[in-house]
Amino acid sequence: MLRFHNYDIVFAEIPNEVSLAVNITACPNRCKGCHSLWLWKDEGHILDEEAISTLIGEYSDITCFCFMGGDNDPKQVNDLARFVKNKFGKKTAWYSGKNSIDKNIDIKNFDFIKIGAYIQELGPLKERTTNQRLYSVKTDGDLEDITHLFWKK
Ligand code: SF4
Repeated sequence: MLRFHNYDIVFAEIPNEVSLAVNITACPNRCKGCHSLWLWKDEGHILDEEAISTLIGEYSDITCFCFMGGDNDPKQVNDLARFVKNKFGKKTAWYSGKNSIDKNIDIKNFDFIKIGAYIQELGPLKERTTNQRLYSVKTDGDLEDITHLFWKK
């Protein structure tokens, strides 16, 4: 089961998209220097089809629904992403803290996937030194690395 702490409308997490980003709790990754320690606890509102329908009903102008976390239950992230696509026709994104894409998901349920643990010395996505990657998922399932869009020219 997935739970979320809060949500926000964001513009920077997925380039060129207006995203409703939901911050999912019970993060199992324990990255050193984590900037969101409150997401380690298993608490918050249940994130299911009903909760997502309410959120998208409230923010119908968004172009993308972004799952921030959810590595404690990748299958549920996958199923809810498929629901968002099929029911609302919105793009979907997943910010995972794992270093590879979970084998149990269908990549075609997502338009964007970010992977990579947070490593303090390497920095977040906006740093050229980062280990993290943001991929755009093409219609054939191929991945395009678009991390460079976060870097200042
Ligand atoms: S994945 Fe994100 S929330 Fe989870 S421990 Fe790492 S930095 Fe913190």
